[in-house]
Amino acid sequence: MRHRIGVMGGTFNPIHHGHLVAASEVAHRFDLQRVIFTPTGVPWHKAPLGLASAEDRYLMAVIATASDPRFEVSRVDIDREGPTYTVDTLRDLQAQFAEESPADTVDWFFITGADALADIVGWRDPDGILARAHLVGVTRPGHRLSNPGLPSDAATLVEVPALAISSTDIRERIHAGAPIDYLVPGGVALWIDKHDLYR
Ligand code: NAP
Repeated sequence: MRHRIGVMGGTFNPIHHGHLVAASEVAHRFDLQRVIFTPTGVPWHKAPLGLASAEDRYLMAVIATASDPRFEVSRVDIDREGPTYTVDTLRDLQAQFAEESPADTVDWFFITGADALADIVGWRDPDGILARAHLVGVTRPGHRLSNPGLPSDAATLVEVPALAISSTDIRERIHAGAPIDYLVPGGVALWIDKHDLYR
């Protein structure tokens, strides 16, 4: 039997319902058995201001995905030293999975925001990424879907209405004292409150 595995890459600062709906929608469309969320370590392109610790972002992702048997969270990116590069994410996960199943029995899909994916030609080793996974860019309604110049069989863009929710908006709401109820899973809201994140 072939395995079809999604890798959901993101900073998840914090994870929200838009991410969960997007992962579920892509799992449905591409018939994925598993989606592995991979919170970034130090995002190479960002200053850490306003960024919750890797451990907080990882634990919030664990809390958010706990009830869905298709979803899991990997530490590959937060445990690797240095900036997070997607080619390393895929290489490490594929090496782990090769211990369970031969590499030629698995189809891999790397899922992330279409905005992030638009810059992929500037990422480390884009050819290596394309050789390892089909790319899926998810985006919010009204946002123009633009293919970042990749061959059509290399990438798919998917519109997800729930992505009207954004991590930036959630952080701004917390900072302003506005509620985030129903934008993030209840357990994530409790974690943010308990650990005084994003104030
Ligand atoms: P970002 O620039 O913070 O995000 C850009 C947009 O995409 C935001 O609107 C963001 O919304 C959305 N987004 C990000 N991840 C998403 C996801 N999994 N599902 C739905 N929307 C998502 O992007 P980032 O989080 O830093 O990076 C995304 C992924 O690309 C990570 O896995 C990162 O390691 C990888 N990446 C790799 C390289 C490289 O290899 N050189 C360079 C850049 C990014 P929210 O803020 O609401 O999530």
